[in-house]
Amino acid sequence: MPKEEYDLIIRNGWLITMNASQTRHTSSDIAISGGIITEIGENLSGIGKEEIDANGNVVLPGLIDSHMHTTLLRGVGDDLPIMPWLYDVMFPKDAKIQPRHIHAAAIMNQAEMIRGGITTFLDIFRCPGEAALVTEKSGLRAIFCPQIIDEPKGSGETLESNLEFINTWHKKIPNRIHTWFGPHAPYSTSAETYRKVAAYAEELDVGFHTHLCESMDEIEVVQQKYGMSPVEFLKDIGALNSRLSIAHGVFLQPKDIELLVEFDVGVAHCPSSNMKVSLGAAPIPDLLAAGVKVGLGTDSNLTNNNLDMFEEMRLAGFLQKLVRKEPSVLPCEQALYMATMGSASCLGMENLIGSLEVGKCADMIIVDMDQPHLYPLLPEPNTNVIEHLVYSANSADVNTTIVDGKVLMHNRHIRTLDWKGAKELILTEAQDLLTRAETWKRLGK
Ligand SMILES: [Zn+2]
Repeated sequence: MPKEEYDLIIRNGWLITMNASQTRHTSSDIAISGGIITEIGENLSGIGKEEIDANGNVVLPGLIDSHMHTTLLRGVGDDLPIMPWLYDVMFPKDAKIQPRHIHAAAIMNQAEMIRGGITTFLDIFRCPGEAALVTEKSGLRAIFCPQIIDEPKGSGETLESNLEFINTWHKKIPNRIHTWFGPHAPYSTSAETYRKVAAYAEELDVGFHTHLCESMDEIEVVQQKYGMSPVEFLKDIGALNSRLSIAHGVFLQPKDIELLVEFDVGVAHCPSSNMKVSLGAAPIPDLLAAGVKVGLGTDSNLTNNNLDMFEEMRLAGFLQKLVRKEPSVLPCEQALYMATMGSASCLGMENLIGSLEVGKCADMIIVDMDQPHLYPLLPEPNTNVIEHLVYSANSADVNTTIVDGKVLMHNRHIRTLDWKGAKELILTEAQDLLTRAETWKRLGK
């Protein structure tokens, strides 16, 4: 009998499946065909058009960045409080962004994500059509949310440009490029816009994403303007439902958490961004205890300053242990869950991605465990492999990144994007954007 042929087989990996029973296989194969995991087992007899030996290394579901912005700059405008940072530096700069800036930014951001083991990301920012074009090529899975800003005018996308983006890209690349709405925040986006977004999201059967309860300034503005918390405000205008995921949630109160549970709203937790901008620690243990879907996000190269989900996992744990003065809160298993299944649920994609299971999309990474900082690695059953992945590993340990069964990177070589060839372009566009932004600021427009 001829042997079964698969598109790709990963051999002899240490599989951390993140399935409901948290199954781990010490040495197992994964067979992939048509972008789907078709078989998992020891010594599979079939042959793969491509076979990758993962012997001694960990195979994990790809990491899912549930909140980021495709930014062209990093290391610019650092160390400022959030509102002056937004209104004096970022919004004036964002008003000057041209599509070609985002094109260059997307090459840099997506190369960084592939190299760091991120297989799916949610991007809320400007000119998403350019980022989507790069994603078509890079092979990553993405949700794009054009960042709608009503005030200050011109610094973000509009409801009209968001609709136009959805018209162009919705279902163009099914299951890989998703089109949502992205109202920025309740202080920059009007109640009317939120209302319309919620209605359109329902009509077009897409999701929407917003920054919520990120800073005390926001809480005060919303309290003054609407006399309630940001979560109550969204409920009040009919924009709180399971199509919504929110970023940050640093200042969520117990009554807000109850509403998030009731309306099935996910939260993207961005620990390093919250720490860097001195906002505080989101009440993650309370959210998890209440049953809220919690994912992890990097936020952006302007607030972080990298897109390293290993760092987010580690800091998510460290931050809660520090502020709660209790080392047992947010253990490493929970951090890994948030970066995989937690983020997947937050984005409404838990049936497609987030775990290694037959029938799910073949999104996975191979982490090279043969490193001094990941040693000694104890064997099963009393292994410290999860501790190593969360507390010791970093994005540079990712050897292979696979999305939809396609190998985007192997042996740290990216197959789908030539980021080195784009380096000059990225620097030129970054300098161009800085020049334009400075001119804009001087003119006081
Ligand atoms: Zn953000």
